[in-house]
Amino acid sequence: MRLHFVLCSLFVFIFVLFFCHSYTQANDYGQVAIIIDDFGGDVKGVESFLSGSIPITVAIMPFMEHSTEQAERAYQAGLEVMIHMPMEPKKGKTSWLGPNAITSDLSNEEVRLRVMEAIEKVPHAKGINNHMGSKIVENERIIRVILEVAKEHNLYVVDSGTSSASVISKLAKELDIPYAKRSVFLDDTFSTQQHVAKQMTSLLKIAKKNKKAVGIGHVGVKGNETYIGVEHALSIFSKEHVNIVPMSHLLDTEIDHDHSGFWQARKETPI
Ligand SMILES: [Zn+2]
Repeated sequence: MRLHFVLCSLFVFIFVLFFCHSYTQANDYGQVAIIIDDFGGDVKGVESFLSGSIPITVAIMPFMEHSTEQAERAYQAGLEVMIHMPMEPKKGKTSWLGPNAITSDLSNEEVRLRVMEAIEKVPHAKGINNHMGSKIVENERIIRVILEVAKEHNLYVVDSGTSSASVISKLAKELDIPYAKRSVFLDDTFSTQQHVAKQMTSLLKIAKKNKKAVGIGHVGVKGNETYIGVEHALSIFSKEHVNIVPMSHLLDTEIDHDHSGFWQARKETPI
């Protein structure tokens, strides 16, 4: 009886040791998060990405026609959801921002209200990043209010990297909020599948060097190109043992780090 107990314990111990070892080894190769911005409307790439076949993190503009619906669909598909908050840029058309954007003329109260409303419109959000915003990310008064609301709602923050003078990192540290910055943009307005594939290779290299990296792509005019470009690169990532994980897994957050459930559709799938 006693021997049986000892043998069982030994077996469990070896199993745990083996499991931890392989888990650590898997993480040693590097991890990337792929955030796809500009969800919320009926644009190219949305349907492909929401099919859930690529483990992306879905960043949704909060005040668009399909914001809430797409947040629910992304969640049901097992994808992590973020708020993609529109913020005033130094240059660009106001129409690119959509309604209720954060602009530099707003009072602290109005900024707070808009971020809280965004949180309501994007259910299941675990983080927030900026849509455009080269002007706002340099504005300490406004970023402080946005980050305070983010902290109150346990949201992590990702700096999309639209300005080198951004104060997001400084204030996130001060307020003790999990924070990351984009490593690579996966696409641009004129990008092709080949361009996206090239950017995915850069993302892979950074992940192998730094153990983690954040790539940001977009749905929109070139959304299908981005989808195909990202999808084509997946086999290289798996060959190089670099895992694609939800954004929250690259951060020191209290969010569940067990990603065994990630990328598994939450709805019942017919057999
Ligand atoms: Zn955007």
